[in-house]
Amino acid sequence: MRIMQLGKSAAYPTGRNWNVSYLIDLDGIYLLIETPPAIANQLNYAGILPDQIDWIYISHSHGDHLLGLPMILVEKYARRSEKTINIVTHPCLPSLIKQVVTLVYPEMEKYVTEHTRFIVLDETNDFSIPTGSGFKLKGAYGDHGVPSMAVRVEDAYKSLVYSGDTAPSGSVTRLADGATALIHEAGAASQEMRLRAKKNHTTPAQAGEIAGLAKCGQLWLTHLEKTSPDFITMCVNEAMEYFDGHICVAPDFQWITI
Ligand SMILES: [Zn+2]
Ligand SMILES: [Zn+2]
Repeated sequence: MRIMQLGKSAAYPTGRNWNVSYLIDLDGIYLLIETPPAIANQLNYAGILPDQIDWIYISHSHGDHLLGLPMILVEKYARRSEKTINIVTHPCLPSLIKQVVTLVYPEMEKYVTEHTRFIVLDETNDFSIPTGSGFKLKGAYGDHGVPSMAVRVEDAYKSLVYSGDTAPSGSVTRLADGATALIHEAGAASQEMRLRAKKNHTTPAQAGEIAGLAKCGQLWLTHLEKTSPDFITMCVNEAMEYFDGHICVAPDFQWITI
């Protein structure tokens, strides 16, 4: 399983950084996690065409995770792609997603209906995706003020858990049990966010605790308010107090094999 981080920033990206998104290569099947507003640019920068993506996962309805989806679909529409894209998401999102896409591109209603397939995840789902590559997806509800869902991606050898946006959550910790890698948000790293958003986001220390409790192999911190080297070092050092496995803030636009 290979992972390319396309962005690691929280809702308001700083400098040349991008909002959170990950591309997962499952033996030639591409799963895109999150579609932030500039995802078309992020994919272009990564050298990936929207038509190469087989599956999309969207954790929740906030704009920094969802609003780029119309831009992926409009590029497929303009290129007359006949490929159906599978969109895996929280149970309450398919109707909202269709509304958003057809609100901004009303002429695409028929195309979207015919070329998207929605699959909802919930905590009772643990299904294999019939792609031939045999990977599985499973979800768990996070705690974020709006319905939000973490996802576990498994192939025959490795497992990856992505938290979505969430405060520390027992169900997400259980989902991460024994995962090869946990990509967990650390959106409450600054003092301001610790005070303002502690019910909706996680501190680096809490992310470290979760990785330790779940006995994950490695922890990637993401959804960061700032991405300066000093801030990243502070986040990693804080998580290290609670987790003795490998911790990183991954570099953007590089394939990393787990
Ligand atoms: Zn977010
Ligand atoms: Zn959010």
